[in-house]
Amino acid sequence: TTPLGELDPEVASAIDAELGRQRGTLEMIASENFAPLAVLQAQGSVLTNKYAEGYPGRRYYGGCEHVDVIEQLAIDRVKALFGAEHANVQPHSGAQANAAAMFALLNPGDTILGLDLAHGGHLTHGMRINFSGKLYNVVAYHVRESDYQVDMAEVERLAREHKPKMIVAGWSAYPRQLDFAAFRRIADEVGAYLMVDMAHFAGLVAAGLHPNPVPHADIVTTTTHKTLGGPRGGVILCRQELAKKINSAVFPGQQGGPLEHVIAAKAVAFKVAASEAFRERQLRTLTGARILAERLLGDDVAAAGATVLTGGTQVHLVLLDLRKSELDGQQAEDRLHEIGITVNRNAVPFDPRPPMVTSGLRIGTPALAARGFDDEAFREVADILARALAPEFGEELREELRGRVTVLTEKFPLYPTL
Ligand code: PLP
Repeated sequence: TTPLGELDPEVASAIDAELGRQRGTLEMIASENFAPLAVLQAQGSVLTNKYAEGYPGRRYYGGCEHVDVIEQLAIDRVKALFGAEHANVQPHSGAQANAAAMFALLNPGDTILGLDLAHGGHLTHGMRINFSGKLYNVVAYHVRESDYQVDMAEVERLAREHKPKMIVAGWSAYPRQLDFAAFRRIADEVGAYLMVDMAHFAGLVAAGLHPNPVPHADIVTTTTHKTLGGPRGGVILCRQELAKKINSAVFPGQQGGPLEHVIAAKAVAFKVAASEAFRERQLRTLTGARILAERLLGDDVAAAGATVLTGGTQVHLVLLDLRKSELDGQQAEDRLHEIGITVNRNAVPFDPRPPMVTSGLRIGTPALAARGFDDEAFREVADILARALAPEFGEELREELRGRVTVLTEKFPLYPTL
């Protein structure tokens, strides 16, 4: 047994069970991924023991000579990856990166303009009971009802009317690319900061497969665990002139000691993200999402009342619109769970069903791409998903689809050496 198994068999066995779950199911939650073993190893290292308040070369604790090397590697690598002038790799999470970025540039009561949560925005972009909604005066923009794409005319109108101090561009559930240049033009016109939250699509940007917001934005925030495929955490990128403000907003403004074990894992993930293998994986992520969208636009799925929001995807996820289906988001999520596919229900814009039920599914491909899924495997998953939505779903179909899921999980083993 392992030291953990010996000391705490209850926790050890739950971790083993979770590994079994990850191996035996198809992970299609769009914000999840599988970190490489090297990332897990860095994160599970002795760095967890170290206090290092401050920044490389300017710490408030002794003995920081090695964590300085590590944090500087993470900073240099992420700057190179995205072409940024300055990086802060200390935020513990994406939410904390956003909190620190806002704390650096705004005062309580200032106005922010962000995408409505119900239309694909994130909690930290101004949701009512999030810190962002409590501390700042929030104005929300939306997607158009005609094509479900962000309404830049509305962004412009609201910006002129409310003169926000910050415009937030970014999303948690949106299958299209944003027009960063248009956001920049509007921000300049009204004298607002432009913050882009690229948490979801950062991996695609790193691979050169999605427009890079860094040249357009004053601040770019991201998580490191979604398409980027690293440890759970956050990063802030900005121009040099905002560097001091950002650093002091993270520490001492928002956080105490940085998680140097997580920062080491971030450094490893940034190295991976600069590789050709990572680019190839992000390509499969995108192609896989396109294959899903095409299959889910099929006649049989339409007959079940389901369709693909915006008619397709340009990123790593597909939003399935179940507003016209008898199946709601909760039931669809449960049905997929029964056959071994994990997704999350998600409100679609203009959703008539309550937020705990919803009329949508958010389906993503990053984790399957990390397992090695190719076009053929994504075509098989897409067909399994489409069949699972059929009105005639019952015992027999459930068993058939569960079997097809198992064939895929065995063909693409996860962490085979663990
Ligand atoms: N920003 C966006 C766009 C997100 O989708 C998320 C995560 O869901 C976050 C920020 C927050 O990240 P975390 O869960 O690490 O706080």
